[in-house]
Amino acid sequence: MSAKFGTQLLPRLDKIAAKFGTPFHIYDEQGIVDAVKGMYSAFADHGMAGFRNYFSVKANPNPELMKIIVEAAGQESGFDCSSMPELSLSRRFVSGDRIMFSSNNTSSAEFAAALDQGGCILNIDDITMLDRLSQAELQGAAAVSFRYNPGSERSGDSIIGQPEEAKYGLRKDQLPAAYQRLLDLGVKRESIGIHTMIISNQREKSYMMETVKMMLDIAGEFLFRHQLKFRFINIGGGIGIPYRTNDSPFELYGFSCSAGQELRNFQEKFGYQPKLFMECGRFVTGPHGVLVTSVLNRMSKHKEYVGVDACMSSLMRPAMYDAYHHITVLGKGEDSPRETVDVVGSLCENNDKFAKNRHLPKTTLNDILIIHDTGAHGHAMGFNYNGRVRPKELLLKPNGSVVLIRRAETEEDYFRTLSFEPMTWSEQPTRESEAA
Ligand SMILES: *Cc1c(COP(=O)(O)O)cnc(C)c1O
Repeated sequence: MSAKFGTQLLPRLDKIAAKFGTPFHIYDEQGIVDAVKGMYSAFADHGMAGFRNYFSVKANPNPELMKIIVEAAGQESGFDCSSMPELSLSRRFVSGDRIMFSSNNTSSAEFAAALDQGGCILNIDDITMLDRLSQAELQGAAAVSFRYNPGSERSGDSIIGQPEEAKYGLRKDQLPAAYQRLLDLGVKRESIGIHTMIISNQREKSYMMETVKMMLDIAGEFLFRHQLKFRFINIGGGIGIPYRTNDSPFELYGFSCSAGQELRNFQEKFGYQPKLFMECGRFVTGPHGVLVTSVLNRMSKHKEYVGVDACMSSLMRPAMYDAYHHITVLGKGEDSPRETVDVVGSLCENNDKFAKNRHLPKTTLNDILIIHDTGAHGHAMGFNYNGRVRPKELLLKPNGSVVLIRRAETEEDYFRTLSFEPMTWSEQPTRESEAA
């Protein structure tokens, strides 16, 4: 949560909570706009006017936020999606080469949807996926890339896993044949790029620079061996944010400076420069959202528990990745008396905990807890296990007003899939069984 967001939100939060009711995620429009503009101006300052961030829709698929992002980013922007609903959402705002379809284990129907209605850039995850695409479909794509997986050459992280164990992408030895097939199928040389994503939540710019260099090495090799000039190198998302108060932020300006330098060196050596693309989600919206929840119960068991009115249906990251999310209590600052507690939801799952052994200001019933940095992979990852429904989403506007941008799910939503046309199947009796 940025200091600015806190200054805007906290003085009003009591009233906002009273008006809308907890729990809810609330997002900071100005914070998102600043993050997007900061990203584009950093790359433009370092000679990369063609830089694009394809916002990863899965990080926060709320159309109100997508609208804010695309308006702040301008023409050199787009959305990265991997499913039909994400494609539909993205098409509300952009089309053609401003949609990156980065699917894996894809069906023919999904490819057909991706290439429908103005097409997209197809980012292909495996050479066998080419069998799911017709020549006309491939030629109709705005551009085509393959996802590269460097295997043991690079190390990953606990969210995405090690590259060798990751289900994504082609091995290096598979790339030449894959690109040759694209050319044989009539894909234009100038419409070909390359993609990778091997890290998640990485705050070290040196790691991201290694990825830029790795991709440029491959681009150099492909020019030399196959006379291919990649239109772009797409290094995926994965820029991290400071979830812990003492985490240092990713040095975006320094990264864009080093990346610009690498691209110019490449230009000198090879006579052309691919565009740099990214697909950051977390970096754009992550710090600009919080989950607001009220204390429902105070319980003393073998440990001390603070039970809140949100649960892991609103935020999976702590349970799924053992991720840290900072928590503060509205109106109770640094100097208020503290205690060590687990902050829990009401799911019948012992890992439904927002924090374990956390040193927090002492709370009483109805205190408001702010769970920080839920703007990406927060609400989006929610689910309905145990009959728990997802909470509402609110948007804090720059003028301080608040707008509902998604209502909470209801029991009616939960039961919607139980309304359907009856359908049965049974084994047809064979002649023998009839005779018997
Ligand atoms: C999840 C994902 C992203 C976004 O990751 P962030 O950590 O939010 O930046 C980008 N690209 C692909 C292919 C992804 O799967």
